[in-house]
Amino acid sequence: MSPNLLIWLDGKLVPESEAKISVFDHGLLYGDGVFEGIRIYNGRVFRLTEHLHRLYDCARAICLTIPLSFEEMERATVETVAANKLRDGYIRLVVTRGVGSLGLNPYQCPKASVFVIASTITLYPQERYENGLHLITCGTRRPNSAALSPQVKSLNYLSNIMAKIECIQAGCEEGIMLNDQGYVAECTGDNVFIVKNGRVITPPISAGALDGITRRAVIELLGEMSVPCAEQNMTRFDIYTADECFLTGTAAEVIAAVQYDRRPIGDGKPGKLTQELIKRFKTLANSTGTPVPYA
Ligand code: PMP
Repeated sequence: MSPNLLIWLDGKLVPESEAKISVFDHGLLYGDGVFEGIRIYNGRVFRLTEHLHRLYDCARAICLTIPLSFEEMERATVETVAANKLRDGYIRLVVTRGVGSLGLNPYQCPKASVFVIASTITLYPQERYENGLHLITCGTRRPNSAALSPQVKSLNYLSNIMAKIECIQAGCEEGIMLNDQGYVAECTGDNVFIVKNGRVITPPISAGALDGITRRAVIELLGEMSVPCAEQNMTRFDIYTADECFLTGTAAEVIAAVQYDRRPIGDGKPGKLTQELIKRFKTLANSTGTPVPYA
């Protein structure tokens, strides 16, 4: 992270050292809030409108009123990128429930807080982008939608963090999270796809996968390539016997997975279709998006 970033906080761009929120903010006290992670490629924000729609939908699902219009939020986002003169990077957009009393009641938090960080992110070592990731099956499951919809990209990521700890302790970078029925949902912060006999399969949203923006982009690219892609329930068997496997996410982009539960996936190397998708995704990301109004 570069020092001296300018952070957009509740309507103002302030130096990082002054970007502070209260210890009484329910985002901190209870993980009560929503967020987005968005990438900037070549001076443009990738799929900004889609990310903001997801943010507003998630806020609505938890009865959180974002104190900015969609257009104001759009402007705040690109202004923050421009102020930090970032041409390639990563934006973290956070809406917290705001300051309230020491009790759960969100209606005692009069105003949500909004902040936007524009910086950079490196999720996995470069070597893994070339040779592929190793995955395990995490014991920690995706939350049941009867408890909290896995569609809500909320500030409560503890189950993902517990799963990430399992991966790191097993010497892996990522892991597969199953849903309460034992079907594959997704990874700790990415969506998962497999390739089998020229067909691509990814778990449906209803299996507990986040409706990933990168996932959507990859499904579109597969359509353009006339490669069949199905959203279908998957088990560990399907990954053990897959020809190829890859993950998608804003921070991760598109990356191959070559080992699962210490077994090689396919021939243990990034697959041909995966490599083609990585290339096509880079081209797409670098040629589309909302332009940033640099000074
Ligand atoms: N699943 C989870 C749990 C995530 O947090 C994310 C985003 N980091 C994704 C999938 C990928 O979604 P997107 O492509 O929109 O970043």
